[in-house]
Amino acid sequence: MARDVFFLGFDGVGAASAMMDSRRTYLDYNATSPLRPGVRDVFVDALSCFGNPSSVHTEGRQARALVAKARKQVADLIGGQASDVSFCGSATEALNMVIRAGWDCVITLASEHAAVLEPAKGCGADHYTVGVTPDGLVDLSDLAAALARAGGSGLRTLVCVQAANNETGVLQPIDEVAAICREAGALVLCDAVQVAGKLSFDVTDAGVDFAVISAHKLGGMKGVGAVWARPGLTLAPLVSGGGQEKGLRGGTENVAAIAAFGAAAEIIAGLLETKGGGCHVQEAFETSLLEVTPGGVVVGQRAPRLPNTTCIAVPGRAAETLVIGLDLAGFAVSAGAACSSGKVSRSHVLDAMGLGKELGSGEELSASAIRISWGWETTQDDLDRFISVWSQTVTSSKGYRQVA
Ligand code: PLP
Repeated sequence: MARDVFFLGFDGVGAASAMMDSRRTYLDYNATSPLRPGVRDVFVDALSCFGNPSSVHTEGRQARALVAKARKQVADLIGGQASDVSFCGSATEALNMVIRAGWDCVITLASEHAAVLEPAKGCGADHYTVGVTPDGLVDLSDLAAALARAGGSGLRTLVCVQAANNETGVLQPIDEVAAICREAGALVLCDAVQVAGKLSFDVTDAGVDFAVISAHKLGGMKGVGAVWARPGLTLAPLVSGGGQEKGLRGGTENVAAIAAFGAAAEIIAGLLETKGGGCHVQEAFETSLLEVTPGGVVVGQRAPRLPNTTCIAVPGRAAETLVIGLDLAGFAVSAGAACSSGKVSRSHVLDAMGLGKELGSGEELSASAIRISWGWETTQDDLDRFISVWSQTVTSSKGYRQVA
């Protein structure tokens, strides 16, 4: 029985793993999602269409038609025109392409994904960071100050703002940010990776100049991203070669994965939640979670958030220990902190929000955050079982202490 695992204090990982529950419940959709039903079939069918989309013969034209169809499906998901969408190898690549396009100044929120922050630091432009409030929302006066510094000298400025944060689910007021930037003469890149497919997102309503999405966050395959650029704006390729994607991304297209991306986008577009649509599930889940987590803090709880994401910090517990304990009990979640190559490191997002300062527990609270993110395969029963397993995991873990 998985239940026994909770009383091991997680020092005995080897012994605990022998008792692993074979039933798995995946609650890490913000890291990557399973394939949407229907997408696998599209992918497998597309594999038979093996032509090179650049070839003029029938096989080439068939492959090209699949890519064209997917471009329209992806454009429709974000309210754009197919002609303004280009495919590439990931959202990270797409973000790099926009950020490395020769700006004089790049402004980023402190809570952006590393796929934005790293190229912003390394692209040779002046880089200003805009802070976020304790709720994780953009500090608008800080943004105005950064724009004044940049715009005052007539610089070509790009402002990078994510629609939704991957760790906390906090939604930024994109349209408001875009209006402020437009006024100041700056262009806006929106990292829409986490919002796409979870809430409706329209590039025109948002008023942004560039938007980036990723296939594997919305039920498609890993290794495909898309960038939308407002008509009239040009980008330079990061990878040049055979002139694919109108010269923006050299290399023969990954036709089957692009077709799957299109299928996922089309399926999801028909099912989208309106803003706040799934919040009753989240509210009930968080109420139950907090009831069994004395001293627990739901990060960004007062801010508008994705309806599938809860980031909870548990004073006095190490996030890695909780992740391992929950994994052994059959639940896949992430540490709220950034996780790469299997290692958990401090979260710049939670640090930017000043998490823990109010409670006076500083670093500890930030290091104890767990992200639970659910999706289309998740049932109410999964969330209910999670609460019960969570309760046992948190309270039986060595070192637990009540702070509030
Ligand atoms: N932006 C955000 C907000 C993300 O969550 C991620 C992935 O975790 C990315 C960008 C990068 O996406 P990809 O894995 O397609 O490179």
